[in-house]
Amino acid sequence: MTRVINFGAGPSALPHSVLEEAAKGLLNFHGTGIGVAEISHRSKAFTGFLTNLESLIRTQLDVPATHSILFTQGGGTGQFSAVVLNLLARHRLLHPDLTDAERHLDYVITGSWSKKAADEAKRLGGGTVNIAVDSRPYSKDGKSFDNIPTHDRYAFSPDPALIYYCENETVDGVQFGYEEGDKTSFPFELFPQGALLPLVADYSSSFMSRPIPRLADHAVIYAGAQKNIGPAGLTILIVRQDCLVDVDAAAKLGAVPVPLSMSYKVLADAKSLYNTPSVLPIYIAGLVLERMKEKGGMPYYEDVNRRKAEKVYAALKRGEEKGVMQSKVKEGGGRSWMNVVFDIVGGPDALGRFNSGAEAKGLHELKGHRSVGGIRASLYNAITEDQVDQLVAYMDEFTNAN
Ligand code: PMP
Repeated sequence: MTRVINFGAGPSALPHSVLEEAAKGLLNFHGTGIGVAEISHRSKAFTGFLTNLESLIRTQLDVPATHSILFTQGGGTGQFSAVVLNLLARHRLLHPDLTDAERHLDYVITGSWSKKAADEAKRLGGGTVNIAVDSRPYSKDGKSFDNIPTHDRYAFSPDPALIYYCENETVDGVQFGYEEGDKTSFPFELFPQGALLPLVADYSSSFMSRPIPRLADHAVIYAGAQKNIGPAGLTILIVRQDCLVDVDAAAKLGAVPVPLSMSYKVLADAKSLYNTPSVLPIYIAGLVLERMKEKGGMPYYEDVNRRKAEKVYAALKRGEEKGVMQSKVKEGGGRSWMNVVFDIVGGPDALGRFNSGAEAKGLHELKGHRSVGGIRASLYNAITEDQVDQLVAYMDEFTNAN
């Protein structure tokens, strides 16, 4: 059986060695004689594995003791709702007398996922959604998500219940800048130093691809596992402990009731075992994270992922210079390390030729998201530099032939 190179945006490629190891665990988990998909989530072998998974994340990402690491299900979409409900409950306990109109939820909209999250907050009610910035007016055509706005364009509320951003927009290929002082970075400097900010970040498609800037300043960081870490079905949360609030006490004061399976405090009190967790995805994520540690953790992935992205953007630039390719994201506008999104000039025919030529070389799943079209190359952790080199060689070949 030959495996192709899978540049898909998620679920996406996993390391070969992990899949082989996982196949063994399906038959016999840690010498128990029971397969991992069959074993009790309360068994010693599994709870030990879960504790180790937590510590693999904590040490590699440098998560401080002020923050809990929780595991749940429901994906990024589940968190679009859960962060709103939990942080509205927290705000209600802090400020019981405000009306819904006075309770602000600040959203930074830089792509289709953050827009979806803001739409869900509007649906749920209990507060007023304020769009702190929407990047579309600053785009090349006035309607695309192709940039991260400069810091003077944000307008935050004085004491919001949450401040929300999506660190990497998987569909649009836009990501916040990483280097300190980068004008496309998140504008941390607009907030008071040392304040307990209700800052929420969706890291679904960039989690553990490089260190998280200002991690300790966040109230909640969340990610579905299915890009860099493992299979779909596992959602990872990093929650500052002042956000583990009694949601029933808040509901008594008029907050929107929170389903117990979504309450961060309930999850934390039960050490992520309030109900049956996604045992198999947790197992595979644990194997992925062990492997990451062996390779050198975040410094290693930061280096490799930076190089991978630079190589693909350089090939894209050569394609642009010849009028064969066109980046969808503005130059200097927050181009993603994880999802490189571009067009093939020449309409559907040219795009079709690019895709079929790629597949003939074993380079698969390069088709852009249905909402934006074109090409999207996802360069998650499991994509090796050698595989990126093969993509770059093909891009150059296509450029030179056209
Ligand atoms: N946020 C981002 C940045 C995503 O890429 C995705 C999924 N691709 C989601 C949220 C939604 O996640 P899920 O499908 O796990 O609900």
